[in-house]
Amino acid sequence: MPALQEMKNIAANAEGKPTEVSASQHTTSIADQAAAATKSAMTSANGIKANPVFEKSKVTVIFVLGGPGVGKGTQCEKLVKDYGFVHLSAGDLLRAEQAREGSEFGEMISRYIREGLIVPQEVTIKLLENAMRDALSKEPPVPVNSPLRQGWEGGRGRFLIDGFPRKMDQAITFDTQVCESTFILFFSCTEEVMLERLMERAKTSGREDDNKESIIKRFRTFTETSMPVVNHYRDQNKVVEVSPAEGKI
Ligand code: AMP
Repeated sequence: MPALQEMKNIAANAEGKPTEVSASQHTTSIADQAAAATKSAMTSANGIKANPVFEKSKVTVIFVLGGPGVGKGTQCEKLVKDYGFVHLSAGDLLRAEQAREGSEFGEMISRYIREGLIVPQEVTIKLLENAMRDALSKEPPVPVNSPLRQGWEGGRGRFLIDGFPRKMDQAITFDTQVCESTFILFFSCTEEVMLERLMERAKTSGREDDNKESIIKRFRTFTETSMPVVNHYRDQNKVVEVSPAEGKI
């Protein structure tokens, strides 16, 4: 089956729609890569452990989780400056793909974002993997004379991955096939405070999901789908929880 069709079927499956088979031979890079990732996921599902793309001994990944409007992006900016990380936001990567001319996922991403739903992992993870590879192939993001530079030498790198993983399938696929995370930074805050912040941000953000209806849906998705991910990592003692409301940051 052509990769593009395979991706459309993945998206249709995620939405509970019937899949279709097309004779089209068109392919695109993300679709090709996503299809390869799907095959690889199937291999590991058959019991053969896939090798992660990046070695944990060289590439440090910290997941940053928390409800919408908790301040993940703001805190990540500070950590980038102080510790020489590259900050990747799953939401930002999805919005960039949505806006990319010619993207066959643009419309689907837009729909998921408006509804506050989790975009299928095949697209989200491939965007993150590409962004990590890109950062690792570039000049390190810290000056030559900085002590933080060693975190980026000899194939090493440090990433804060913000707003990810938001669903259990993403957590497992990323940890086993892309790079095992080191720990999870979890920001917690009341919905009341988050709503207030998001409504304030809505005045200038221009985001199609910064409206009360979408925000309520995003809260529900966070509680029902993303909190189990936090609890999964809690069970592994990998969660560092920070509560801005308690004045810890
Ligand atoms: P954010 O920019 O983190 O507030 O995310 C905005 C929206 O992008 C979410 O409500 C989801 O629809 C989508 N999104 C962000 N992160 C992910 C992810 N890890 N997996 C799937 N969808 C995501």
